[in-house]
Amino acid sequence: MNPTDLKALLPDAIAQRVSSLTIVNRRAIAVVDATGMGERARTDIEQAIKDILSPHEDVDDVRVAMTAERKQLRLIAVGSGKGGVGKSTLTANLAIALTRRGRKVGLVDADIYGPSQPVILGNQGAKPTARDDKLEPVPSKFGVPVLSMGHLVEPGRAIAWRGPMAGNALTQLIDAHWGDAEVLLVDLPPGTGDVQLTMLQKFKPAGAVIVSTPQDLALIDAARAGQLFDQAGVPVIGLVENMSGYACPHCGEVSDPFGRGGVEEAAARLELPFMGRIPLDLKIRQGSDAGAPPAASDDAIAQPFLDIAEKLDAWIGAKS
Ligand code: ADP
Repeated sequence: MNPTDLKALLPDAIAQRVSSLTIVNRRAIAVVDATGMGERARTDIEQAIKDILSPHEDVDDVRVAMTAERKQLRLIAVGSGKGGVGKSTLTANLAIALTRRGRKVGLVDADIYGPSQPVILGNQGAKPTARDDKLEPVPSKFGVPVLSMGHLVEPGRAIAWRGPMAGNALTQLIDAHWGDAEVLLVDLPPGTGDVQLTMLQKFKPAGAVIVSTPQDLALIDAARAGQLFDQAGVPVIGLVENMSGYACPHCGEVSDPFGRGGVEEAAARLELPFMGRIPLDLKIRQGSDAGAPPAASDDAIAQPFLDIAEKLDAWIGAKS
């Protein structure tokens, strides 16, 4: 019996995945290219090969080895100069919008002093498990697995963490079992503190998105956050203007509580790409508080997030 005849016993769909098949001392050894296959599909193909080959009279034993080209996990940081500008909201919605475009995305809530992703993604109370000393991300119903301090400690407990503890927490969240995710969006705490520094030193992101409201003060802080990435050699993918223009739900009149267009001007001044603006809209806040992020809906309010995700997707594609 030669290996080619043995391989002919396998159905095409399986044979295509078998990169080599040898027989040594009546032991058949199949090497399977499992690139892109999930845990379940791997188990199934291994079982199928064993079931088909082991009854053969020349085979006493079947071994199946899996190889996979590991896609490099790309980290993209989402930062802001100050809190409350919608950074977490943007990160969650971008992760969902990228997933809708077919990307495999994971989300790290590195805002360890004020984790909000479990609420936004509606998986509050879920606990990540650990395997081989690493965390398993928590699934969300939007196809985005997430790890957040909010899943690990009681609300408010991480507030006093500084320096090494904050850095260690970040390490655990990032150095986890991200499976087949190709992009990890990291929701950073606001400003330029310990977590940002650990991130830059230990897990240099491929790029950073900076979000700001249009006010001058928020913009100055956003520019500072941008500078930090720039100095560390992390490209700023672009600036996003959030809470830009408010349409009154009653009369429809559009007003600009925080001004409008400031971020685009700042981007031009800083020679950074401008990625788009998201209006101040009650539906965004209500959806985020209720674990129903707007980017997952078919409502028009999803569109600004989908548009920004399209730009981010193009950036990721160009870097792959
Ligand atoms: P950050 O992460 O920058 O601290 P969040 O994403 O937590 O900010 O947003 C702060 C609050 O503002 C949340 O209640 C959120 O739902 C709300 N919010 C964010 N963006 C918008 C928007 N475009 N329209 C309405 N509410 C928003």
